[in-house]
Amino acid sequence: MRGGDESRIARVRRWVLVSAIIVAAVILAVVTYRTTFQLDAIRAQAVFEATLGLADEKVDRVDRAIVEADDAVMALGEGGRADDIPRRWRGQAARRTPTVAHVLVLDSGSAREIVAFASRMPSPADDALRLLLLRRILPDVDLSTLPLGQLKHLHRAYDGAFFLVSYWRAQQIHGDGSSTERLIIVNHDRDAVARELLEQVVPDPRVPTARVNVVDDEGRVVFGPPLSKSDLIVAKRFPTTLYAWRLQVAPTASGELALKARRRRLLEMSLLALSCVVVVAGVVALLLATAQERRLAALRGEFVANVSHELKTPLALVRMFGELLMTGRVASEEKRRDYLSIIVRESERLTALIENVLDFARVERGKAAYDFAPADVPTVVGRAVDACRYRAETEGMRLEVDVQDGAGEAVVDERALQLAVINLVENAIKYASGTGAVRVEVAPDGGDRVAVRVIDHGSGIDPDDRERIFERFYRGKRAGERQVRGSGIGLSLVWHVVHAHGGEVFVQETPGGGSTFVVRIPVAGPG
Ligand code: ADP
Repeated sequence: MRGGDESRIARVRRWVLVSAIIVAAVILAVVTYRTTFQLDAIRAQAVFEATLGLADEKVDRVDRAIVEADDAVMALGEGGRADDIPRRWRGQAARRTPTVAHVLVLDSGSAREIVAFASRMPSPADDALRLLLLRRILPDVDLSTLPLGQLKHLHRAYDGAFFLVSYWRAQQIHGDGSSTERLIIVNHDRDAVARELLEQVVPDPRVPTARVNVVDDEGRVVFGPPLSKSDLIVAKRFPTTLYAWRLQVAPTASGELALKARRRRLLEMSLLALSCVVVVAGVVALLLATAQERRLAALRGEFVANVSHELKTPLALVRMFGELLMTGRVASEEKRRDYLSIIVRESERLTALIENVLDFARVERGKAAYDFAPADVPTVVGRAVDACRYRAETEGMRLEVDVQDGAGEAVVDERALQLAVINLVENAIKYASGTGAVRVEVAPDGGDRVAVRVIDHGSGIDPDDRERIFERFYRGKRAGERQVRGSGIGLSLVWHVVHAHGGEVFVQETPGGGSTFVVRIPVAGPG
């Protein structure tokens, strides 16, 4: 009962452990999976923020440069000298305001007369520009809420070309002390803006930093290289000046980064899957090993019981007949001899059994040592058969030996091979008792091998058992059913001896019923 409880507790403990391992592995897998994706998101966010910072900085730089140019022009009209601005700008400030192309002063009356005008490079085209400024651009300028001296910008396309215009209201104080309000318009040259400003913030596309370009409202590239759609792109509007345009920034390697991230994710996922497989394989191996261990422990327990039984029976007989002889009341000399021969026979059985167990123990500990030397195989087999004759006689069995021509010398360990043959013959006597004869054949096998066959006509072996009977402690189903005594180590010893010789052993069905054990060993010895 206690044993049953213990094994139940062990079973429960095993299943709890296995479940805990599986649950832990699943949790680990889920956490790793999620962390991988979170890390990716964090990395992408970091790249995005860095790119955004870069875009901010560039946009500010362009914006500030334009406003500074405007301020420089505006400063020329300080102290109520608005009408002088174009002249003074043309004279000295043009160098400091490279993006400014034209400066225009208009009176504030409803007719909007041009009071003063200056062009960086005077040309006949200036007339057309003036006309455009007055007719088309001026109506779009919103002056109603504009305080005196405050700078504003207009950035818009006219006939497909973009214009950037800065404007403000200023005062002109006349000689008589009266003052008139003026509207100052500064036209920035598109090419100069591109050359002087954008070129500085849009680096050479061959330089491997971030790629930058400028696009208009409809996404057409105004300046810089095109950016591919698959790139991570951060767009930023120019806040005050070129507000119809956007600056776009893409980290040069963003495509490459995405590819790398995908590859890394794939690698991480594969590693994760691999570790899950390893965990599952480990658990399966653990379960198989414990199952195997349990089976062996059960077999070992049976073995101890079987061996004890095997020892007990002959010992009991030896003791009983020994005691009978000691009393001295044995009826006849013939009986006395019978008793003595029983004692001798049973002691021999005991010796054989103990030798088997000792040999088996040596094999188990890996201490079995073989002493190979050339020997005549039929002679060795003959000696082994002779050792079994007495047992055969008592069971009423005949032992026949048949040596075929050509079966001769081989490199063997005589004692071990003899032990193997004794085990096979004794089994045949045991499991085929009452069938008349056991036949042992020695024959050449393909020139480089010699075969020993032990043939009986007994109960035979269940096909399911044919492989397993060579396992240690394993006893066949029929042996149990027919209550034949044994320990389950004989055939495992045979297997070990034959394999140490570089040979093989197996069992076949004897035609007409029974078992035929075949041992094949190379003539030249192992290896
Ligand atoms: P044991 O004979 O002590 O049980 P063995 O290792 O010698 O152990 O044999 C293992 C099993 O093989 C036996 O239990 C028996 O079932 C089966 N066996 C061996 N030899 C024979 C045979 N000649 N005929 C039938 N069954 C056999």
